[in-house]
Amino acid sequence: MPRMSQFIYLIICLVFVSCAPDPGLDTPLEDKNFNQLTSHESIIEFVQILDRRSNFITVDTLGLSVEGRVIPYMKISSGEFGEDRLEKLMVMLFAQQHGNEPSGKEAVLALARDIAIGKHDELLGHLDILLVPQVNPDGAERHERRNADDVDLNRSHLLLNAPETIALRNLFHRWEPYVTVDIHEYQPWTRSWLEEGYIKLFDEQYGLVTNLNTNETIRLFSEKEFLPYAEREITGAGYTFHNYIVGPPDRIRYSTTSINDGRQGFGILNTFSLILEGKNARTPTGDIQQRTEAQQHALETLLTFCKEKKGDILSIVRSARRDLITTTQAEFVLTMSREKDSSILTIPALEVSPVNDEYETGDTIMVDIENYFPLVVKQEVTTVPDAYLIPGSEYRIIELFEKHNVLMKPLEEGDVQRGEYYIINELTTIELEETEIIFPELRTETAVHMAHEGDVLVPTDQLQRMLIATALEPQSMHGLLQYDEFRHLQQTGRYPIVRVDLPDVATIFDR
Ligand SMILES: [Zn+2]
Repeated sequence: MPRMSQFIYLIICLVFVSCAPDPGLDTPLEDKNFNQLTSHESIIEFVQILDRRSNFITVDTLGLSVEGRVIPYMKISSGEFGEDRLEKLMVMLFAQQHGNEPSGKEAVLALARDIAIGKHDELLGHLDILLVPQVNPDGAERHERRNADDVDLNRSHLLLNAPETIALRNLFHRWEPYVTVDIHEYQPWTRSWLEEGYIKLFDEQYGLVTNLNTNETIRLFSEKEFLPYAEREITGAGYTFHNYIVGPPDRIRYSTTSINDGRQGFGILNTFSLILEGKNARTPTGDIQQRTEAQQHALETLLTFCKEKKGDILSIVRSARRDLITTTQAEFVLTMSREKDSSILTIPALEVSPVNDEYETGDTIMVDIENYFPLVVKQEVTTVPDAYLIPGSEYRIIELFEKHNVLMKPLEEGDVQRGEYYIINELTTIELEETEIIFPELRTETAVHMAHEGDVLVPTDQLQRMLIATALEPQSMHGLLQYDEFRHLQQTGRYPIVRVDLPDVATIFDR
């Protein structure tokens, strides 16, 4: 071919490649014309294609599921991933902790594809992104919520009793991203709503950190800056949106404050942490194209917000995490209640009426909900001591803290620590978040602890400060004492963990 026609040929090829749909870069869902959800095997193949196609995407393995399935994730950066912590904000998006909520996975794959074909280069000047399309492959393959050990992964972020959750949290600790988004779908077709004659129908809901032991500046920023932005952008694209609300219609509130879920569980480490709840359908693939597109739009909204507010988020999270290490005698909220304010919540809803054993849908109506409990109010409080002493006999707590990447110092036989013991007089119960919570009546006693081999000191001047207090305080509504796995803590008498105040806690690790 003469040189000129070669040149023209090349141009034509380039134009063709850039304009024509590339069949290799349809997501597996698109490739199946939205009739079949992406299998675990197809995820693995597809992310490898993206890795080969894009210089910005690197695929790695998070870990293995209970049944040995590989859990892949993608590191996305226009430079060296994680190298530029001053100028780049790191964001981690993870989907499908619940296997029967597939649209998050499909949206993450579509987002990764769009990144691979250069649609989001502008974001990558500001953000490094971790994408985990599917945390729970075993559940997803069966289209079930839980993992193969019947563990709800989004209730396992404190006990870490599932390899999938441990792997996800290890990824977090490897990079300590400033922003995390846990992607789910809510089921509108639940009995308590249907019985009221209507169901809520938001396409997308973002839930914020609400646990009062998370950083207040991050909470306010989420509420005052992010939420209005998300509402504007998501409704602007034609989707319905709301701050994530749960509950039967006679009592509406924000979802749990417990740190056993992904949002509060990373939030307690002073992360700008969110949960995203798309609208599920009556069948796995029902409306899957629309569900996926809505989720992707909500995620792109978050990423664009992160780009625009990068400076604010970097400084807020940095300072909040510094507080965890430097503040002493921080207040710790043991119990939180839900309260009403003067507002009446008005939401759009879809009328439903029972016909035989099914429900038929009617009109979209506006419903006033008077039993709206939007406030999380602190009740009982204490302070976080400089350190906790865990006796070696509580090795399961020590092992748990190792999984949480908590810094601990082994004590030596005969080391003496002055501390404060709790004496539990009585185990009473109170109702919080519609759940019966064990609330021990107790007193404290000062005593000297003579250490034995195996005892450890857990200083609280670390990223996990509030997580440690949440786990160990016996009156903590989200503490280990509440769980069957730590039932032995539910007894009267001396509580095994000791509160220790040290003259100079900073010397423990020679920081
Ligand atoms: Zn879910």
